[in-house]
Amino acid sequence: MKLAERVGQIKFSSIIKIADRVREMEAAGKKIIRLETGEPHFATPSVAKNAVLKALKDNLTHYSHSRGVYELRKMLCDRHNYEFKTNLDANKNILITPGGKQAIFYAMLSVVGGGDEVIISTPGWVSYEEMVRLAGGVPVFAVADRNQDFENSFNIIKEKITSRTKAIILNSPNNPTGKIIKEETLRKINNLCLEKNILLISDEIYNQIIFEGHIHRSVLSINPELKNCILINGFSKTYAMTGWRLGYALAEAYIIEAMLKLQQNSVTCPTTFIQYGAMAILQGGDNFVKKSLKVYRDNRDTLMRELKKTDKFRMIEPEGGLYAFIDVSKINKDSHAFCLDLLEKGGISAIPGEAFGRGGEGCVRICLATEKKNIMEFIKRLKKIYAI
Ligand code: PLP
Repeated sequence: MKLAERVGQIKFSSIIKIADRVREMEAAGKKIIRLETGEPHFATPSVAKNAVLKALKDNLTHYSHSRGVYELRKMLCDRHNYEFKTNLDANKNILITPGGKQAIFYAMLSVVGGGDEVIISTPGWVSYEEMVRLAGGVPVFAVADRNQDFENSFNIIKEKITSRTKAIILNSPNNPTGKIIKEETLRKINNLCLEKNILLISDEIYNQIIFEGHIHRSVLSINPELKNCILINGFSKTYAMTGWRLGYALAEAYIIEAMLKLQQNSVTCPTTFIQYGAMAILQGGDNFVKKSLKVYRDNRDTLMRELKKTDKFRMIEPEGGLYAFIDVSKINKDSHAFCLDLLEKGGISAIPGEAFGRGGEGCVRICLATEKKNIMEFIKRLKKIYAI
């Protein structure tokens, strides 16, 4: 059987190579400290779990509206309208999806095709590139400057614009670098998109995980009508709900309509009872967000402080998000080899920076959402293996 050309054009993530090796080692009885994950280590708060149990007891187990349960859409639109003084309509401007990832995929399939170029700021999340290809587009990489700590620069993005540019994807706070796009940069990119009729996809999935002294600006605050813009968010990272698969997109009505067609003809709707858990967490999850942020910040500060004592590793200061991106190139320029070495000698798993596209080689990503003792152990083992 000859497979479709489109799957031949995309690749497995190089993260899987590390994950497979971790599994082999664990199967052989080795204890691995897992810092490669991309999710909070906390359990999902009970308020969400109890609401789902109730929804199940109430037999809310059939299809929901294909846009998502109305009350959840309304709650999300109301929250955004209150915060940003916008007029999002729960019947027009929002689509609830099985994960933010699915929302990005719908966005891509709705707008990109036929060799359209999509500018992706790198280092960046691994799936953007493959989604662009699956949609029939061509990924174009705007590589952030390591010497500027991967700050997103307007000029670097602008230089990549051609007559074939259809969309730009921004992710702030960024996975893996933890950088937040400055308001001024976001404003300029947004204006450029309006001027040249380019779609701006703003992935704000880490928008609640912002460290002290930093401000995250949503694209909604500068483009309240979301003209030429799709805002992506979800419940996975903020509320430790990665396995629930729930996200959403906000956009102009005609874009949401297009995405809705894709949803209706693929998954029909997001899982119904899960959406009741989401409503409960929106109402009762603020303490969890504060508590988890404190843990991530403490881990970030500990790691920064310890790595600053050495000249062999340089940690890019994360301004938000769940990750630390560490330059290991003085030890090994090949980040994949570095991660395998760390795994074999130190029993610690991390993600090689090359997995995050151009500009990421020579760095590794570790997840800050872990118990502090794991961060301490990571530092201890780095010192032992690399004599720092
Ligand atoms: N966007 C970014 C930058 C991510 O890191 C992730 C998950 O790792 C997602 C989107 C998708 O999240 P989910 O599909 O769990 O909502």
